[in-house]
Amino acid sequence: AAKDSGKATWVRYEPRMRQDMTEHARIAGELRHAIDHGQLRLVHQPIFDLHTGRIHGAEALARWQHPDRGLVSPACFIPIAERSGLIVPIGAWVLREACTTLARWRREHPGTAIQAINVNVAVRQLREAGFADLVADTLEQTGLGPENLILEITESAVVDGPHVQEALVRLHRMGIRLALDDFGTGQSSLSLLRAFPVDIIKLDKSFVDGTDRGRHAIAAAVSQLAGNLGLKAVAEGIEAEDQLDRLREMNFHYGQGYLLARPMSADECGALMAKPAQALSA
Ligand code: C2E
Ligand code: MG
Ligand code: MG
Ligand code: MG
Repeated sequence: AAKDSGKATWVRYEPRMRQDMTEHARIAGELRHAIDHGQLRLVHQPIFDLHTGRIHGAEALARWQHPDRGLVSPACFIPIAERSGLIVPIGAWVLREACTTLARWRREHPGTAIQAINVNVAVRQLREAGFADLVADTLEQTGLGPENLILEITESAVVDGPHVQEALVRLHRMGIRLALDDFGTGQSSLSLLRAFPVDIIKLDKSFVDGTDRGRHAIAAAVSQLAGNLGLKAVAEGIEAEDQLDRLREMNFHYGQGYLLARPMSADECGALMAKPAQALSA
C-alpha cells in the first residue's frame, strides 16, 4: 500500500515538476537576455563596525530589473543562474560593477573608511579555470588592489574539490580576503576553518534572530572561535536592538542587517559613507 501511494504521489507531482522545469528554462532564457540588455543591478548593504558605529564596508547584492515583473530577488534567479551556468557571465558582471563602484566611492569620498567591497561568488564560478585571472584583471582595470576586495564563498565551495581549493588558495595568496558566508548552516564548518585560507566568518542570520538559547550559545562560540583563530566575525541579518546588544556583548566586530541599513543604491551608500560616525541605534 505504501508503495502504491508513493507511486500515486509521484504521478500527481510529475506534471508540476515538468512545469517547474519549463519555468526554469523560460527564466534562464530571459536571464540570458537580461545580461545582454543591462537589466541587472547591484544594491549595496553597508557593514558596520559594531564598536565604533562607523560604516566599515559594503556587500554588493544582485537584483534583476525585469521589464514586467519588477525588481526580482536573487533568491529567485541566482539558483537558476547557477544551474544553467549563466552565473559565470553574471558573476563577472557583478565583480566588475562592484569594483567600479568601490573605485568611484573612494574617489568621491577620499576619507571613507570603506576599504573593501564584498562580492558573493558561486561555486560554479570558482570551478572556471580562469577565475583568479578574471579577478586580477578586474582589479587592475578598475584601479583597485587585492586589499579592496572580499570574496564571499559558502561552505559548499570549500568542500567542492581540489580545483576550487586551489583557486581559493591562489586568490588568498594574491592578497584577496575570503569570507565564509552563511556560517553555521553548512556541514563540517569547524574543520574548514583550519584547512582553508578563510579571513572572515559571516555568522548566518538564523543564529542572530533565533530566540532559543542554543542558537545564542552557538553565536557566542563562533565569535570566540573567530577571535582565537585570528579571524574577523560578522553577524548577518541584525533586525532588532536586543540582537545588536547581544552581538556586541559577544564581541562581534562587524554587523549587517535591516536595523542598521538596508541594501541601497550606490549613490545612497556613497552619501552614507560621506557622513561622520553613524549612531548605531536606528
Ligand atoms: P547573502 O550573501 O547571505 O546576503 C545576505 C542576504 O540577507 C541579502 O539578501 C540581504 O538583503 C539579506 N539581509 C540583510 N540584512 C537582513 C535583515 O536584517 N533581515 C533579513 N531578513 N534579510 C537581511 P538578498 O540580497 O536577497 O540576497 C540573497 C542571497 O542571494 C545572498 O545571500 C547570496 O547568497 C545570493 N546573492 C545575491 N547577490 C549575489 C551575487 O551577485 N552572486 C551570487 N553568487 N549570489 C548572490
Ligand atoms: Mg553574502
Ligand atoms: Mg550571508
Ligand atoms: Mg545568507
